[in-house]
Amino acid sequence: MMRHMTLETEWVEYVPEVLQPGVLYVSRRFSTASHLCCCGCGLEVVTPLNAAKWRLIERDGTVSLQPSIGNWGFPCQSHYWIERGRVRWAGALTKKQINSVQARDRHDALAVRPARASPVAGLKAKLLNTWTAVIAWLRK
Ligand SMILES: [Zn+2]
Repeated sequence: MMRHMTLETEWVEYVPEVLQPGVLYVSRRFSTASHLCCCGCGLEVVTPLNAAKWRLIERDGTVSLQPSIGNWGFPCQSHYWIERGRVRWAGALTKKQINSVQARDRHDALAVRPARASPVAGLKAKLLNTWTAVIAWLRK
């Protein structure tokens, strides 16, 4: 399998049924983006673009997605950032690392007060969601 290092952006109204590898399809109309997992496994990654999910940042004709793409539900468990049309790979997490992040998240969850809706708290909540998905996956 070949890892992709770049992603071209294609602005579409509807995301096509068959995706081409190395292309990030963005539909403004439906506030969503899709691409094939950059590891080359061929699975489709859907990233809804809204405040609770991903943010699309356009700059000088390039596109970034925040936060990172963590395909924990896929066999490949790829984890990468899409930054200005480039794919920046994060190292695969070992089970030990996942456990330690989970422990940190539990700590953070206690530290985040709902009354203080700061951007940082929002980010932590997002991370927590991600890790909750990891925990669910690990327990399968
Ligand atoms: Zn993959």
